[in-house]
Amino acid sequence: MMGNKKEIQKQILHFKQELSPARLLAVTKYSELEDLISAYEAGQRDFGESRIQDLKAKAEELSSRGYLDIRWHFIGHIQSNKFNRLLKIPGLTYIHSIDSFKILEDLYKKEDHFEGQYLRFFLEFKTTDEDEKGGIDSYDELAKCTNFILNHPQSKFIFHGLMTMGPIRTENFEEDAIKSFKKLRKTRDQLKADFDLPKLKLSMGMSSDYKFALKEGSDWVRIGSSIFKE
Ligand SMILES: *Cc1c(COP(=O)(O)O)cnc(C)c1O
Repeated sequence: MMGNKKEIQKQILHFKQELSPARLLAVTKYSELEDLISAYEAGQRDFGESRIQDLKAKAEELSSRGYLDIRWHFIGHIQSNKFNRLLKIPGLTYIHSIDSFKILEDLYKKEDHFEGQYLRFFLEFKTTDEDEKGGIDSYDELAKCTNFILNHPQSKFIFHGLMTMGPIRTENFEEDAIKSFKKLRKTRDQLKADFDLPKLKLSMGMSSDYKFALKEGSDWVRIGSSIFKE
């Protein structure tokens, strides 16, 4: 369904202001191209998709129409055999969802397929015990990933921070969201200290829980439905 242009633009301006200094990632997985363009016209340049084929279709269409300054963020689960396709997408600038050591290794193996200048990525960390969610689930595994990254310093891939998904099915939504985001922040702080990585960022918060994520110091908030769906 197509949203209302004025409403979308109002939401973009509203969120940019409310989230600042955290950045708004506008998630377009429910949106038509024209809605994305409405957001673009309000000044939004960072857009996120969770399926490779949708990202590819939107990015290629917009690039062919001359929108060359969009920064695309991939936020979905990745299968190793899809990296070739993902890395070639025009404007791909961030991946938020490197969710295992294996996927990290596979990313680095495919570096030749990436045609951009730099690609910043987040390691996805599991901060709730909901089974259907992916992510790295121990500090040891994160440390193993970080060692691997530090052993490959000459790369176009830049370790940008940690990402998490807050709780979905819970009776104490607020309490559990705060717990999840605090856990990510503490884990990030530990990693910063242990590996001397002072710039690591946090990608956390969506339409339903971003206020709690902001309180815990989120740097990137990923909002879809509150902008594009009424
Ligand atoms: C869909 C999605 C979002 C945005 O969710 P909304 O509830 O629509 O704001 C954020 N992060 C990820 C990983 C998503 O898949």
